[in-house]
Amino acid sequence: MEVASIAVSSPMFGTSRTKLSDCFFVPIRRRKTIIDRKFLFNSTNDFSNRSSIDLKIRAVHLDEVAADKPESLAGLVKDVNWPSPSDEIPFWKRKFHTHDANPEIPVNIEKDSDLLHVIHVTAEMAPIAKVGGLGDVVTGLARACLLRGHKVDIMLPFYECIQKDNIQELSLVSTYNSYYDGKWIQTNAYRGLVSDIPVILIEPMNQFFKGEDVYGGSYNELEAYLFFSRACLEWMQVTGTQPDVIHVHEWQTGALPLLYWDMYCYLSLQKPRIVLTIHNMEHYGECRQEQLNKCGLDGSLYATIDKAIDDRTIGHNPERLSLLKGAIVYSNSVVTVSPTYLKETLCSGWLASALLTNRDKYHGILNGIDAVMWNPASDVFLPANYHAHNTDGKEVCKQYLQRGLGLAYEGRVPLIVCISRLVAQKGLHLIKHAISHIEKHGGQMIVLGKAPDGRVQGEFEALANLHNKGSTIRILLMYSEELSHMLYAGADMVLVPSIYEPCGLAQMIGMRYGSVPIVRKTGGLADTVFDMDDQSQPEMANGFVFEGIDEGSLSQALDRAFSYYKEKPIEWAKIVQKVMQIDNSWNKTASKYIDVYNSIRVRG
Ligand code: ADP
Repeated sequence: MEVASIAVSSPMFGTSRTKLSDCFFVPIRRRKTIIDRKFLFNSTNDFSNRSSIDLKIRAVHLDEVAADKPESLAGLVKDVNWPSPSDEIPFWKRKFHTHDANPEIPVNIEKDSDLLHVIHVTAEMAPIAKVGGLGDVVTGLARACLLRGHKVDIMLPFYECIQKDNIQELSLVSTYNSYYDGKWIQTNAYRGLVSDIPVILIEPMNQFFKGEDVYGGSYNELEAYLFFSRACLEWMQVTGTQPDVIHVHEWQTGALPLLYWDMYCYLSLQKPRIVLTIHNMEHYGECRQEQLNKCGLDGSLYATIDKAIDDRTIGHNPERLSLLKGAIVYSNSVVTVSPTYLKETLCSGWLASALLTNRDKYHGILNGIDAVMWNPASDVFLPANYHAHNTDGKEVCKQYLQRGLGLAYEGRVPLIVCISRLVAQKGLHLIKHAISHIEKHGGQMIVLGKAPDGRVQGEFEALANLHNKGSTIRILLMYSEELSHMLYAGADMVLVPSIYEPCGLAQMIGMRYGSVPIVRKTGGLADTVFDMDDQSQPEMANGFVFEGIDEGSLSQALDRAFSYYKEKPIEWAKIVQKVMQIDNSWNKTASKYIDVYNSIRVRG
């Protein structure tokens, strides 16, 4: 590429010449964009002092008025293939050039000098096997560590529902046998790359992991993950792979630390140390002793208070084990996903006593977001790209959604999105209340969610039937990675009204896309969103926060956000720019995990 300097045209800063060395080249197949590096990750630009800010408060039909708009907006609008609800193929199912939101990798990350080999063992990985935040976290953390020079692999089950064409260089690397329930099961291990991250996919020759979805197949899930935990160690054993760290996640891989310390380290694995990340304490992996026996351990040996017994079942018949508790006891280090959730888990819930006993190895590290997957400046799923210095593309994204879903697009109306698994934790009554409150107060709302519970799904279907006919509310009961990107981009606000939230990614992703968060003050939401009206720390203010779990508390937060949006449009535009520049990426927080890895690794 032979460009010595480029013209960066921004309606906010006019046209300036920028040296190539200051630029970050983000080539994507659809279009080529050159973005000033400082637009991408940092939070150092203070817009509040710039007198030249051209705060455009736009509304209405972008295509009709484009001729009056600055060059860049007219150009963006000209390219857009506007969708409509009557399209044969819904706009989020159109062909994209790649399944990756952004297949390009940053090149400017500083490398670490003391390098590690980490293998994640996990039930989810974004985007090929993602149900919620676990998948995002594994991919984002793995990428951040790879970019810093570490060797990272992700081991996950080869679910039947994984689309093979989303894995590059997929090849069968070994066939081996792994023990399960008195038999040795023939097992295939495949290697490949997902979004440039090395993966090892474990495929047993039995019914495990078959089905249309990651979870909920017709096999016994607990037993499938017990098999998987052992099959990963068995693969390391037969291939002589000895990473510095095996990083397990959630209850699904909770048996691995037990298997490692009580079985495999007496065989040939000695070097690895184990890190457990708890993403959500609600799921603790209830397991009967005879089920644990099936992976080759003696379940009765773990039924003690200092090992894996579920304390609540002591004296009951039968007593139960908890794979999560066992993993807390047997891992060298335990991490949960935000400092506030760490405090919450130490003082509530039945696992608190196990965590207190293991307090010296228990850490709270705030999740990050994968700044490669989630980047409005180069996201291939968006009809127009944008960044904090020029948010024209965001307006296009909003109107694209409104048109595609049949929402009104006249006037300046706040659009709120809620993208969530529809489970009790997420504040279902508050999501329902938001729908009616927003409709009544002249806003628009789009809910994108899926309920694993049929009763909840039915309730939301009834709501969808009631509200989806009008031009202000859309309740979309499905999972769509592509649509979620478009919603974060097109929204003015993102709602996360969780009853509890270990970390929460939706508020962080929303901010990266310039959508202002409205959240309940709990867990990681309390660590990342600070109220606009909190005078004690105005420099931190980046959203709207409420505390109660009652509908009135939510209504007040929505009303405050609406009046900011409607009555203070200039301030609103500044908030949008500010939240886009907050660095919540893994590039910032991965070092804390690397410190944990280094603190337990065995050298030599
Ligand atoms: P949790 O892990 O409890 O589900 P998080 O906020 O940590 O919650 O992460 C949720 C992730 O799942 C986000 O990336 C969010 O965009 C995504 N997500 C949730 N529901 C859907 C859906 N229906 N379609 C697409 N993405 C979804």
